[in-house]
Amino acid sequence: MPTKVENENRVFPTSDSSSSVLNVLMEYIKEGRVEVLTNSPVLEIKRAEEINEGSNTEGTKQIKSIILENGTEILAKSFIIATGGKSYPKTGSTGDGFVWLKKMGHNIIKPDSALVPLNIKNSWVKNLQGVTLPDIKISLYQDGKKIEAKRGKILFTHFGVSGPTVLNMSKKINELMPYGDVILSLDLLPEFDFSSLNTELQKLFKEHSNKKIKNSLGTLIGSALVPIVTELANVNGDTFNHSITRDERVRLMKVLKDVQMTVDSLLSPENAIVSSGGVDLKEVDFKTMSSKIFSNLYFTGDILNIDRPSGGFSLQICWTTGYVAGTWAVDESLTS
Ligand SMILES: Cc1cc2nc3c(=O)[nH]c(=O)nc-3n(C[C@H](O)[C@H](O)[C@H](O)COP(=O)(O)OP(=O)(O)OC[C@H]3O[C@@H](n4cnc5c(N)ncnc54)[C@H](O)[C@@H]3O)c2cc1C
Repeated sequence: MPTKVENENRVFPTSDSSSSVLNVLMEYIKEGRVEVLTNSPVLEIKRAEEINEGSNTEGTKQIKSIILENGTEILAKSFIIATGGKSYPKTGSTGDGFVWLKKMGHNIIKPDSALVPLNIKNSWVKNLQGVTLPDIKISLYQDGKKIEAKRGKILFTHFGVSGPTVLNMSKKINELMPYGDVILSLDLLPEFDFSSLNTELQKLFKEHSNKKIKNSLGTLIGSALVPIVTELANVNGDTFNHSITRDERVRLMKVLKDVQMTVDSLLSPENAIVSSGGVDLKEVDFKTMSSKIFSNLYFTGDILNIDRPSGGFSLQICWTTGYVAGTWAVDESLTS
C-alpha cells in the first residue's frame, strides 16, 4: 500500500482512505485461503479434558473448541484471541475476551480508559470547536503543583479538548481527578520566554501601530484565539496598538504563556481510543504470544495489558503480536 509521512512522522495511506488498509489485509487473507465468518459472534470457549502424563504432574491445559451464537461448535488445534479491549464498543470490542479468560483462570487487570479526550469546564472552550493548535506546551497542575508538561498538538472539540498530547496525559489526569481540580495550562508560544515575547509583542505593536489588537495578535497565535486571550487578559480588543499600556502588554503576555482550563471529566470509556488493562503479561510467553496456562491459546493486540502512548503504537502492537501468534499457532497445529 503506497504511504505518505505527515506531521510527527505519522504514516497514512496515500489514498487518505482507511479502506486501502482493509483491502491489503483482505488480499492477504485471500492469498492465505483463510475462511472468514462474519456475523458469527463467539459465545464461549471450551476447555479440553486435562491430559495427565504422570500421577504427580499437573495436567496440560488446552482449549478444545469455540461455540458460536448459532450453536455451531468449531474444533481446532490452536486458538488466537483477538477480541480487542473495551474502548469504542461500537467497533465490536465489547470486552468478551476478558470475560472468557477470567472464567478460565487467567488474571485480567481491570480494563480502564487509557487514551481518552477531556470535557472542560470553561465555557469559552466551546467557541474554539474545530481549532487545532499544532505546537503548544500543556502543563498539568493540581493544588498549584506542576505534575507534568508535554509539548505538541491540541484539538478543541464541542465538548472540550483532544489530540495526541491530551490523550497521552489522560491516564495521569484520570488518576488525579479523585484528589481535586486538575488544571491544564496552555503555553501558546512555547518558543518564547517572557523577555523574548515582550520584545516580539513590542515589535508587533510598533509595526502595526494603527491597527487594533484584535486585528494583529492573530499573526502570533491564530485569529480564533484572539478574542479569548484578550478577554482572559482583560484587555479591550478594540484598543489601537499604539495605545496599549505596559500593564496591558504584561497581562497579555501572562495569558499567552498560561491559558488555564479546568478539567471537568474524562469522556466515557466508550470514547477512549485505547483501554488499559487486559491479560496479565506475567501469564503470556512473549516469544510465541501463547498463554502460560493453556498451551494452544494465543493472544494479540488490545486484549493484552500493554500501556502505550498515542502515535501508532497500538496498531504496531496488533501487527507484531498478530504476526508472532499467527506464526506459532500454525507451527503448533502442524507439529502436534
Ligand atoms: C477512534 C479510534 C482511533 C484510533 N486511531 C489509532 C491510530 O491512529 N493509531 C493506532 O496505532 N491505533 C489507533 N487506535 C487504536 C487501535 O485501533 C486499536 O488498538 C486496535 O484496533 C486493536 O486491535 P485488536 O485487533 O486488538 O482489536 P480490535 O481492532 O478492537 O478488534 C477486535 C475484533 O474482535 C471482534 N470481537 C469481539 N468480541 C467478539 C466475539 N465475542 N465474537 C467474535 N468477534 C468478536 C470485534 O468485532 C472486532 O472486530 C484507534 C482506536 C480508535 C477507537
